[in-house]
Amino acid sequence: MTGQVQTTLRSPEAFSLARRAVEEMEAAHVWPTPLNFELWVHYLGEPEGPLGQEMRRLLADGTVFSEGTSEMLAAEYLPRGRLSEEIRDAGAVLNRELSTVSEAIAKAQQSQAAYGQTLAGASAHLETASEPTALLGVVSKLTKATTQVQAENATLERRLESSTKEVARLREHLEQVRRDAMTDALTNLANRKAFDEELLRACDEADKKRQPMTLAVLDIDHFKRFNDTWGHQTGDQVLRYVASVIGRVSKAPRVAARYGGEEFAVIFPGESAAVVEAALNSIRVEIGARALRRRSTNDELGAVTISAGLAQRQPGESGADLLGRADEALYASKRAGRNKVTNGERLAEAA
Ligand code: GH3
Ligand code: MG
Ligand code: MG
Repeated sequence: MTGQVQTTLRSPEAFSLARRAVEEMEAAHVWPTPLNFELWVHYLGEPEGPLGQEMRRLLADGTVFSEGTSEMLAAEYLPRGRLSEEIRDAGAVLNRELSTVSEAIAKAQQSQAAYGQTLAGASAHLETASEPTALLGVVSKLTKATTQVQAENATLERRLESSTKEVARLREHLEQVRRDAMTDALTNLANRKAFDEELLRACDEADKKRQPMTLAVLDIDHFKRFNDTWGHQTGDQVLRYVASVIGRVSKAPRVAARYGGEEFAVIFPGESAAVVEAALNSIRVEIGARALRRRSTNDELGAVTISAGLAQRQPGESGADLLGRADEALYASKRAGRNKVTNGERLAEAA
């Protein structure tokens, strides 16, 4: 998708695409932030692509494009392109570093060889030289050659030192890019892509260690109503708050993620359903007890509540099946009136 849009942005139609993006953002009452512009350009460049379909769905639903919505879309549909661009750029820098260093080494090798020849020549001269002036000539040639080799060695050392620094900087930058690609920008929790990878890994580990593992999904109750009443900016603040409570209770080896708009998921490696049920209830009670205030105006917003569902993994069960069971438990909580935690194990016993 990204490749195709980039080609379009470098073609004569680029200006009309950019103009249309701005016009359509204005028509949809969306601020032309750089991120929204990027989303709209991708969307208009390939309306039938996955991003295009999702954006049309959101626009038709009348969804407000808050910072959170745009970041979710970008995380879901744009990161691969960005990541590969970063990697390509880093690769180019690395290539340049490597070629200057190898040129410097080749040059140093040549001058070492030349120095060796000068030494051999000098030694042959010394065997035959009987005049002090001839000796003096040999010594001055040697001094010149030695100084030159020393200078070249110092240059090589400097080059190597600066290359080592540059490569270390690059490694740090790529590590940051990798972290960004796995993190939800609004809440700083893991994003869905990171979570899906982590879920696979945790299932493997549970099988290897023959240990239990439990998965939980949490969803804010009536969040649409909250957004409609207080606006999406305030909604985003609440998402950050809820994420911070979930994150605090989910220290490693637990893994917490923002799985979708106002939906979170937590992996509990090595933990049984009963322990997780208690942890979720303490999250639920803490969030529901907090009287929220809007930061900018200090308006009282009341409290938000969350519903949750959990399922303990059966040996050999796939991540997708486990997630499906945790989701069923979540919906049981919603059906039962919300602000509830449902243990999927008990759901299965009752069935
Ligand atoms: P339920 O109790 O059944 O979960 O009801 P709900 O309104 O929370 O659920 P629904 O799925 O109908 O609506 C979810 C709402 O979450 C829609 C949208 O307004 C809001 N939302 C999703 N992502 C974001 C976001 O990134 N920022 C903000 N502010 N709101 C979001
Ligand atoms: Mg909800
Ligand atoms: Mg939801």
